[in-house]
Amino acid sequence: MLTEITPGADGPFFDIAYATANNITGTPIYGRGACFLHPRAAEAFHRARAAARAIGLDLLVFDAFRPTEAQWKLWQALPDPTFIADPRLGSTHGRGVAVDLTLCSPEGVALDMGTGFDEMTVLSYHAAAVAPEARRNRLLLLGVMAEAGFVHNEFEWWHYNLPDPDQYPLLTDAAAGTHMMP
Ligand SMILES: [Zn+2]
Repeated sequence: MLTEITPGADGPFFDIAYATANNITGTPIYGRGACFLHPRAAEAFHRARAAARAIGLDLLVFDAFRPTEAQWKLWQALPDPTFIADPRLGSTHGRGVAVDLTLCSPEGVALDMGTGFDEMTVLSYHAAAVAPEARRNRLLLLGVMAEAGFVHNEFEWWHYNLPDPDQYPLLTDAAAGTHMMP
């Protein structure tokens, strides 16, 4: 029921942070780094990627479907609803309709967005006063994603999801058959 998006030598590029120790818990959360999206979100992702490529860029994915089991691990590490969705309420990632990503060069080098993925500071707010080049890059990403049908998140420049996410069911790793959890 979810569609897997796979990386390619010529993009899209992946840096699935929760499959590495480079996340707020300090240990890998996923057993394998994978990008699964609801078919509607996957179609929108492909539209966004085509738009990025049309302006000489590509997409670099940090996270997509996040099984409910993984959301619990993040919540236990940082139970702050400003940055982590309460797993009892569910997150847009748990519904397969959200993707965390950035723009990159055709070789996969990320553009400067002023802060890194999951950097929990007000500078990560979409409209934050970061340097002009980073601001321009955030707005380029916004344009690419909005045209494809995604909506942005005012607190995280890297986060995009489909409109009306609550209409999509929350899924566990087992229910989705994604085999992402260790
Ligand atoms: Zn996100």
